Amino acid sequence: MSILESLRKIVQEANSAKNFDEVLNVIVHQVKNTMDTSVCSVYLYNKKDDNYVLMASDGLNPDAVGSVCLPSGKGLVGLVASRAEPINLEEASVHPRFAFFPETDEQLFHSFLGSPIIHQRVVLGVLVVQDKQTRRYDESEESFLVTIAAQLSGVIAHANATGELNRTLNPQDTPTNERIYSGVASAPGIAIGTVIAMHSHTALQATPSRQAIDVDTELILFRKAMSLVKSDMRALDKSMVGILSDQERALFDAYVCMLDDQALGGEVIVLINEDGLSAQSAWTQVILSHINMFKSMTDSYLRERASDLEDLGRRVLSYLQETETKRTVFPDNIVLVGEDLSAASFASVPLEKIVAIASVKGSRNSHLAILGRAIGIPTVMGAIDLPWGNLDGEEVIVDGHNGHVIVYPNTSLRKTYESQVLEEKLLAADLEKFLDQPCETSDGHKVSLWVNTGLRIDSMLSLDRGAEGVGLYRSEIPFLMLDRFPSEEEQRKSYREQLEMFSPRPVTMRTLDIGGDKDLSYFPIEEENPFLGWRGIRVCLDHPEIFLVQLRAMMKASLGLNNLSILLPMIASMTELDSALVLINQVYNELTQEEGYEIQRPHVGIMIEVPAAVYQIHEFARKVDFLSVGTNDLTQYLLAVDRNNSRVADLYDFCHPAVLRALRVIASGAKDECTPISVCGEMAGDPIGAILLMAAGFSVLSMSATSLLKVKAMLRQVSLVEAKQLLEDVSLMPDAQSVRNYVEQALNKAEVSGLFSR
Ligand code: PEP
Ligand code: MG
Repeated sequence: MSILESLRKIVQEANSAKNFDEVLNVIVHQVKNTMDTSVCSVYLYNKKDDNYVLMASDGLNPDAVGSVCLPSGKGLVGLVASRAEPINLEEASVHPRFAFFPETDEQLFHSFLGSPIIHQRVVLGVLVVQDKQTRRYDESEESFLVTIAAQLSGVIAHANATGELNRTLNPQDTPTNERIYSGVASAPGIAIGTVIAMHSHTALQATPSRQAIDVDTELILFRKAMSLVKSDMRALDKSMVGILSDQERALFDAYVCMLDDQALGGEVIVLINEDGLSAQSAWTQVILSHINMFKSMTDSYLRERASDLEDLGRRVLSYLQETETKRTVFPDNIVLVGEDLSAASFASVPLEKIVAIASVKGSRNSHLAILGRAIGIPTVMGAIDLPWGNLDGEEVIVDGHNGHVIVYPNTSLRKTYESQVLEEKLLAADLEKFLDQPCETSDGHKVSLWVNTGLRIDSMLSLDRGAEGVGLYRSEIPFLMLDRFPSEEEQRKSYREQLEMFSPRPVTMRTLDIGGDKDLSYFPIEEENPFLGWRGIRVCLDHPEIFLVQLRAMMKASLGLNNLSILLPMIASMTELDSALVLINQVYNELTQEEGYEIQRPHVGIMIEVPAAVYQIHEFARKVDFLSVGTNDLTQYLLAVDRNNSRVADLYDFCHPAVLRALRVIASGAKDECTPISVCGEMAGDPIGAILLMAAGFSVLSMSATSLLKVKAMLRQVSLVEAKQLLEDVSLMPDAQSVRNYVEQALNKAEVSGLFSR
């Protein structure tokens, strides 16, 4: 078997293991066999006692497992861990750091190869092989061990997140069910509520485990799905006569047999009847266990049958989802939880009952998080370890300030959070006093606060909170909610509503910004690297038929109101701007000269969100009526950090000194050309961000409705002089965190301390 084959087999077997102990045992056993060596062991770091515990071994005395502990920094294991690199020794016993543990029977072994197990820079343990012979492990063996250790690190990190690691290392501790899962803090606030787990369609692994509301109904649904898939298979079989050989067509027959009561079907019925599971949960549980079994087979023919089973699994699931009994009763405080929640997930639950959102995938600037902020719902994205499928109906706490989802909280933690919820309510009530106050610094400098919209609810909220205009209407949000492109008239009506709502205040409507992380189900864009691919203006210029309809709808909607400005996203070159302007003029001329509309020509501006635009700021500023800085994308592109990748989320921060420097270049370029400029990225709605932006020269800030009062409260506490000095001071700082700490400390005034939550 090749190294790659062995690796695949080990990973597969480990993935099918029932629990963490079994994973470790599979690894040591398989590695020992594959490397044809005398011993393989795993030592894990126990933070509580600051030592490395022998947690699994094939080859050492089994009684030593769980009892042998090496103080951190001691022995060869300690050396591997402290150096964070592999150590390969022909004769371990002559090494000065060799520590002898008689209970392991180690005197029998000579050679030693240890590889650290590291996750996100932290050493979690050490994977060791030993041999009775005095030999040096060769390079391929060394790289094999390093690769296995790297794979193992993810499993251990997950066990750490779920509390299983601590339970294994410290079985004597009083068990507690409380689990804290970390993700990316994406919309501030704290909420306590009951989970509704939302599944993604036809993803077997993404089907939550649910109890049946009525067992008999579930049995009927299951039988119906079975018979539909069976008849599909028979029809498919017929249509393939003459195309596939008899032998190849035998697969369809096999599918039909597998669904029988004597096979998979029977197992599912038992689970529904005896365990009371819903048909979807029972089906996915059964099919996944069979898929895993096939995947771990050595015979490659049988292994490949796993994908047939997966196909069968999805077919049945999709019928079950079609007939799914819709939930009609909802808890009062809903925490929406899912693997990859999208804006559309909101549609199936009553919006007014949602108190928090937690998603396994996504990050602070996923559209769902932006929606969460718009509506003021605490949101945690990228909670990769959250066992979301098992949480339906459970009570959880979502801490949107720190990015935590707490499952089964103990009483004291729950009490702490309950009092924080209360404090937040008081702070929100306190902020109301700023409603009628001007947004003006203590030395009289005025800043205009505008709002970002896209949903009707955030428009309504923002009017209540005194927004002076709309700095960014994300026109793609209504597109995201549909299952086809909206017609010109449908678009006109929704734009009209927005323009009327804010009239006579200005409304900046951004043209369709799809691609990147904003995918329309009816216009899928599949790319390796979507943020650097076909998105924003690039899509619109390639599809003038979509772009022109949108422009027509926007301009027609402004009839008699004349408060429309058009904003173009993702502009990276003058040619793109020129091409877009040609199309804008074409629409304007058609409407006014050929169709008789009496419309004022809208102002046209571009978003500055691509680094290229920063360096051509003067040229762009001369050509457009206004500019708007999209700090979300600008930060992502300047720092080369995917705004949706939770693994690098802590590197994504608009307070990074390089971003601050770019912002100063933009502000001064626009000023030189006397072109109005605003900021509409999330930075504008962050109290620290807002201070730094004001200091850099931006006097129009556009943000989520829920940030308006917080930002106003903050800006009223500082003077422009003070803010400018702060920006000067932080400009030379090494990183974003130092910038944040500095500003927080400098402004540590009692009245505003509650506002520094990120
Ligand atoms: C931005 O990039 O800062 C922005 C406001 O646009 P979006 O978040 O919709 O990409
Ligand atoms: Mg953007």
